[in-house]
Amino acid sequence: MTGPAKLDLASIRQAPKALLHDHLDGGLRPATVLELAADCGYEGLPADNAKDLGEWFRDAADSGSLERYLETFAHTVAVMQTPEGLRRVAREAALDLAADGVVYAEIRFAPEQHLEKGLTLDEVVEYTLEGFREGEAEAAALGQPIRVTTLLTAMRHAARSREIAELTLRFRDKGVGGFDIAGAEAGFPPTRHLDAFEYLRANHAHFTIHAGEAFGLPSIHEALAFCGCDRLGHGVRIIDDITVPGSSVDDAVLGQLANYVRDQRIPLELCPSSNVQTGAVPSLDKHPFDLLARLRFRVTVNTDNRLMSDTSMSEEMLKLVDTFGYGWTDLERFTINAMKSAFIPFPDRLKIIDEVIKPGYAVLLG
Ligand SMILES: [Zn+2]
Repeated sequence: MTGPAKLDLASIRQAPKALLHDHLDGGLRPATVLELAADCGYEGLPADNAKDLGEWFRDAADSGSLERYLETFAHTVAVMQTPEGLRRVAREAALDLAADGVVYAEIRFAPEQHLEKGLTLDEVVEYTLEGFREGEAEAAALGQPIRVTTLLTAMRHAARSREIAELTLRFRDKGVGGFDIAGAEAGFPPTRHLDAFEYLRANHAHFTIHAGEAFGLPSIHEALAFCGCDRLGHGVRIIDDITVPGSSVDDAVLGQLANYVRDQRIPLELCPSSNVQTGAVPSLDKHPFDLLARLRFRVTVNTDNRLMSDTSMSEEMLKLVDTFGYGWTDLERFTINAMKSAFIPFPDRLKIIDEVIKPGYAVLLG
């Protein structure tokens, strides 16, 4: 026995990781944004070199408001309007995640935002899927295998959710694993999109909903009770339904909604850095991640937007380790939580858990 590996960024990169909540248009390399902008004649970028541009994205996203955070996407989406742009961004996302030790990733994007240069919804999905498959093949050749599943997002302020739900089903066996709605929560409850969710449920399709991020319990309640989602995108405000009167988590009192989320094992796609950036939680040490983990909610660790948060899966895990003192067994549990909650068939999930995740952590545990 050699004992457990030291927990640092390098060793966490070696650990197999599973990621459920990552936005394609929030994970571009700054250099790629610049090159694609030059290729497609987009002149709106706020900086002309990769370093300054990367910093601009992080600073703009750091403003503490979800609405301001969402503004940064105008630039990334602007350079993802062509077959080349979509393919390249998808390919690089798969490669970057694989290089960080992510073995399974669900990457989401909103096809309706990529129609400015005349592509159809189906073409947008096809080119993006091609990019993911290219990235997977290259990553495997580099000895860093990754499986990427695509989620299609509908924007909650728009009126195309039913169309995007239909698109999700058209590509269900071709790399698309499920559906999501995203965008500013305030004023746009998920129940605006009930026909999309009813259609998905009628067709036994998976979906997650951004809920309980900027907005509180009513949003989570609607997402579960009326829309019937499988997972909660963020869901961090479930903490508002939990009180801990004493000093021990054993004293925690859960309301009906929190009990339901825990009893039903509803996965929470928590995104620590992003939750702090958007003001969903005041600081990392005040993030309810740890309380939810200790209460045995099905917590998962996610990046949300790697460019805007200047982060990676390994860095998110390291932040949690530094803040809450987690060890390898905790990181393994969060990873298995994510893999159990993936929108791929059950035998595929088990195979990754048994053949990749467990052996990978066994090595790190020594
Ligand atoms: Zn998100």
